[in-house]
Amino acid sequence: MNPEIARYCQECNEYHSLDITPSLTELTCPHCQTKWGTITNPDDIFDYCPICQCRQFYLSKDFNQFLGCLVMLIGIVLVPFSYGLSLPVFALIDWLLHRRVPYIINCYRCGCEFRHFQTSRKFKPFLHHIGLKYDKYR
Ligand SMILES: [Zn+2]
Ligand SMILES: [Zn+2]
Repeated sequence: MNPEIARYCQECNEYHSLDITPSLTELTCPHCQTKWGTITNPDDIFDYCPICQCRQFYLSKDFNQFLGCLVMLIGIVLVPFSYGLSLPVFALIDWLLHRRVPYIINCYRCGCEFRHFQTSRKFKPFLHHIGLKYDKYR
């Protein structure tokens, strides 16, 4: 899978994701072509956020994928046959959710999401005291 950067585009007010290829340096919205930013260091994209130049990132579960699993979960729960099975089924779903929902890396300042990037950097989950610093930008 290609790495991708996803964010809400402020111009078209929609969530879009952009495939990042090695030759790509100028990031533009795939929908309205608004410039999002520039990749200045393709070897280490997490040196600076290409969109807002922030240097801090955090790890989170991929919420979009999580929603996908949730929809699946509701589908299963609504099947009448699952009544007697609900506990083992929920245990299974819980396990699936934890296993299947991948991690993504988020920028603290602009909130953009990085998927499928290979990096040797280690990121930590969201830390509230760091998040507070960036609240004013959101
Ligand atoms: Zn746009
Ligand atoms: Zn950013």
